[in-house]
Amino acid sequence: MDVIVIGAGVGGLAAARRLLADGHRVRVFERAPARRTGGAALTIFGNGAAVLSDLGISLDGIGGRIDRIDARTDGGRLRTTMDLAHTAETYGFPTRSISRRQIVDLLSDGLPDDLIRHGMACTRVEHDADRVTAHFEDGTSVTGDLLVGADGIHSAVRRQLWGEGTVRPASFGTWQGLSPIDIDITDTTLHYMITGKEGACGLIPAGPGLLQWWFDVRWKPSDPRPDAPLEMLRDRFGHWAYPVPQVLAAATEDDLDFFGHRWNKVRRVWGEGRITLLGDSAHTMPPTLGQGANQTFEDAWVLGRELAKDDKPVADRLRAYERARYPHVNLVSRMARRNPANWRIPPFIGRRIPETSQTKLLIRFSNRLTDGPLPSATRDAVAAGGGAG
Ligand SMILES: Cc1cc2nc3c(=O)[nH]c(=O)nc-3n(C[C@H](O)[C@H](O)[C@H](O)COP(=O)(O)OP(=O)(O)OC[C@H]3O[C@@H](n4cnc5c(N)ncnc54)[C@H](O)[C@@H]3O)c2cc1C
Repeated sequence: MDVIVIGAGVGGLAAARRLLADGHRVRVFERAPARRTGGAALTIFGNGAAVLSDLGISLDGIGGRIDRIDARTDGGRLRTTMDLAHTAETYGFPTRSISRRQIVDLLSDGLPDDLIRHGMACTRVEHDADRVTAHFEDGTSVTGDLLVGADGIHSAVRRQLWGEGTVRPASFGTWQGLSPIDIDITDTTLHYMITGKEGACGLIPAGPGLLQWWFDVRWKPSDPRPDAPLEMLRDRFGHWAYPVPQVLAAATEDDLDFFGHRWNKVRRVWGEGRITLLGDSAHTMPPTLGQGANQTFEDAWVLGRELAKDDKPVADRLRAYERARYPHVNLVSRMARRNPANWRIPPFIGRRIPETSQTKLLIRFSNRLTDGPLPSATRDAVAAGGGAG
């Protein structure tokens, strides 16, 4: 089939890889003038890594491996701890924090040179029983058999299908950066999640000498951007226990990016006729579970699986893909909106829950998040009460 993909973010690239491998003709149209080189790191969990592996991408040795997440108080006391090394054993894929640039490069490697056309902002799509057409800002248009709107949080394709105002602000925003910061967890496999009344902070090893760091603060869209964001963060979080002040001292304004959290209610039906959505265009969510891109990779994989069922009309296959993704994405999105990154579980409660139980819960939850290619044997073992036991 002749597939048009709008957007060359991680979702559009993953879909292109999968659909090319399945023998489709694929053309990708990206608004930006060139390949994205910026952005901080993304945490890739087992479900995302399994899809990437299926697409021929190994993450071995890339970015920073994460074997444990310690949730701490702002005073440095341990709230809870989760053993991700155990989940890695269960799934066969460790959790990793990898810069977005590296992921985009890995997804782009080996793709045909003329696959992606940059500087092409889609403004409108239309379809009939046989074809779908995308129109672009420069006045040109292309026609194909189906169209995947992978154009992210401000998707033009979604806007046309669903109308305006479907994506809403959530109550937090994230200041984040990826930079060389020399503290004692930078070259380890330990991830800190620190919460206090001022907000939350995450510190994640992201490769040799590199630390991904983020601060969540309450936010609404009408808030003015502070003149000196780093000063604001130092005022707010600088009195927290080691290593937060050290991170803030080493960070620079140039490292900082801000993202206000947004979300949309996940729908059972995403597209119409020969048009579907994929990734953030279908399911924008706060980044509090680190699953947005992981779910996007699963979208790409399931889309390929459903399109391969060529005994059904194209539109039916696209609706089957959306139906398959709905329960998983809806669960993740609802959880992400509860903002677990900002929960303040009292240490005395956290200490009462044995680490093995926490890990077991994580594996059970992780299994409900996925319908991608994680080995079915793993799921059977967990369903039978194994896994983290
Ligand atoms: C602070 C923060 C931290 C995050 N951390 C994690 C994490 O640790 N783990 C994780 O799994 N997820 C994380 N996410 C979520 C993740 O970034 C997204 O879920 C993911 O990027 C979605 O991929 P996408 O391809 O759908 O959208 P995008 O990556 O946004 O790509 C969309 C592409 O479409 C292009 N485009 C837009 N409009 C048009 C148009 N009209 N025409 C043509 N092209 C267009 C854009 O230029 C862009 O290249 C985080 C998000 C944020 C904000």
